[in-house]
Amino acid sequence: MSEERVERPLLEVRGLRVDYGRGRRRTTAVDGVDLDVGPGETLALVGESGSGKSTIGNAVLGLVPISAGTVRFDGEDIGRAPARRRRELTAEIQAVFQDPYGSLNSMRTIRQTLVEPLIAHRRLGGPTGGTTKEPAEPASARSQVEAALHSVGLDPDAADRYPGEFSGGQRQRIAVARALMLRPRLIVCDEPTSALDLSVQAQVLNLLTTLQRELGLSYLFVTHDLALIRHVAARVAVLHRGAVVETGPVDRVCDRPEHPYTQALLAAAPVPDPVVQRGRREARAAALAGQR
Ligand code: ADP
Ligand code: MG
Repeated sequence: MSEERVERPLLEVRGLRVDYGRGRRRTTAVDGVDLDVGPGETLALVGESGSGKSTIGNAVLGLVPISAGTVRFDGEDIGRAPARRRRELTAEIQAVFQDPYGSLNSMRTIRQTLVEPLIAHRRLGGPTGGTTKEPAEPASARSQVEAALHSVGLDPDAADRYPGEFSGGQRQRIAVARALMLRPRLIVCDEPTSALDLSVQAQVLNLLTTLQRELGLSYLFVTHDLALIRHVAARVAVLHRGAVVETGPVDRVCDRPEHPYTQALLAAAPVPDPVVQRGRREARAAALAGQR
């Protein structure tokens, strides 16, 4: 496997195995997976549906139990860290999932949704912060909510509205804002644009790229969509049946895939590319405007 190792990875996954079910129903979803994500870097994790991409993301997030292997963050084994330290480490790793409709609670205002991670991690400042069941929302939380909304391109008055008042793309911006609230260093993006229209996809991808540059974020970017990866990632790991079959720089893997599975995946990939299409659309619109 051709791989230049990341020198000092922020996220270091070694020998990861995840099983679902018990006894005779037990199935191994991923086995022997090694991955590195460097500081400020995006690693794309690609593979067809059912290959184990979300399982890996969820294992990194601590949402599914690990049967074997280790997940290290900034050199520390998350699974072996004492509970208190583990809580601190998990605050550094946040998530944006695919479904912009299901991932936000429709009964809660955007502000309530954004403040949730602060409450869960006892990060509410102020006199009553985090010590009572219904903490008063201190001014620091208000300004953090506004700052997070601002950084994803939404007005502060979005805070007092409900998810139902927003489009799919706006909801995904809100999901990104929520992921930013604890000032993480790594975000697991699990098909974050797969449910969106192509033009909206490009906007959300650009937002993620801008935030990465501004905040030095690392992304583990899970997608089945090969057309996206050149735009978001410098390196890619190709997953097949729960195992990484090839990993390397995106351009090398896309232009000269070494593994037969990667070759098949690329050959089957549809051409549409949201950024290219958007560029074409804009060029077309500009051309039309010029004619008038
Ligand atoms: P991907 O995200 O690449 O589509 P997943 O990680 O969701 O793949 O799934 C990998 C494998 O694990 C699939 O065979 C899937 O059916 C199985 N799987 C995923 N989640 C569960 C679960 N909660 N219980 C049992 N099997 C699961
Ligand atoms: Mg998935």
